Amino acid sequence: MKKRSLSGIKSTGTPHLGNYLGMIRPAIDLQDDFDSFYFVAEYHALTSERDPAAMRASTHMIAANFLAFGLDPARAAFFRQSDVPEVTELAWLLSCVTHMGLLERAHGYKAAKDQGKEKEINHGVFSYPVLMAADILIYDSDVVPIGRDQIQHLEMTRDIAVKLNLAFGENLVKLPEALVREEVAVVPGTDGRKMSKSYNNTISLREDEDSVAKKIRTMPTDPARVRRTDPGTPSICPVWQFHLVYSEEGRKEWVRQGCTSAGIGCLECKQPVIDAVLEEQKPMRERAQMYMDDPTLVRNIISDGCEKARELASETMRDVREAMGLNYG
Ligand code: SF4
Repeated sequence: MKKRSLSGIKSTGTPHLGNYLGMIRPAIDLQDDFDSFYFVAEYHALTSERDPAAMRASTHMIAANFLAFGLDPARAAFFRQSDVPEVTELAWLLSCVTHMGLLERAHGYKAAKDQGKEKEINHGVFSYPVLMAADILIYDSDVVPIGRDQIQHLEMTRDIAVKLNLAFGENLVKLPEALVREEVAVVPGTDGRKMSKSYNNTISLREDEDSVAKKIRTMPTDPARVRRTDPGTPSICPVWQFHLVYSEEGRKEWVRQGCTSAGIGCLECKQPVIDAVLEEQKPMRERAQMYMDDPTLVRNIISDGCEKARELASETMRDVREAMGLNYG
């Protein structure tokens, strides 16, 4: 029997290239080897989203993109977090065994505190790790694919699971393992920092070709290359990160040689990146549009995924309620 993997993506607008390379593509790759469950994390998005229409549009967009990128509904379940309200019940039950100290150690809360903004965040942000633990534990997940920077999240889930098991029964919920993806492709944003909507430096998966090309063409490079004749150092250039993801060895050698000897200009160096990104995105954009234009098809796929997810969630909740004495009568 295959192990079960769980992946969630926050419904915060159109996914971008960083989401695709770092989360969507590796998550979809897992459907070959794992019993895979994917969900749109609307409850998590609600810590900041205030526009119901935007929430619905984002959910549809993410589902369309997952399907366009190769999610196979015959092998994997795709559903909305809010399709399974049991997850919020489990989150409350887990809250009752989770100490404030644990939540205060979460990176997000600590960052807010360091900036003197801990009073400004809402309870959803503070208790985010508990909801995430509920997301993972309710489906009896064996593995959760994560990047190195998310290891703390999974450790918190395991801590909360241990607390629940200690209080109400050994092996009541399964302790999930992190599936740390070292090989995941990462590209920087258009300003060289991490690609993130909060930095406004993303390349959206819905962006037209001219806009994608323009963004890459105007990306910063090694600042030492003031003139075309100045040699540069690829390792400190954001464009090089794109070559690492998109170029084969021969092309990379061309960049190394050309950059360090000033044999090529930065615009020349960026063109193969533009071509590669557009070539990769074009068919996916077209497939995504097909799903965008067929909401009934997408809804049906989500509804099937929800059925599978809810079945698992119901089993977990039956055991947990019984262990906690909530099955009176
Ligand atoms: S030649 Fe390429 S790697 Fe070198 S600084 Fe310019 S864009 Fe960056």
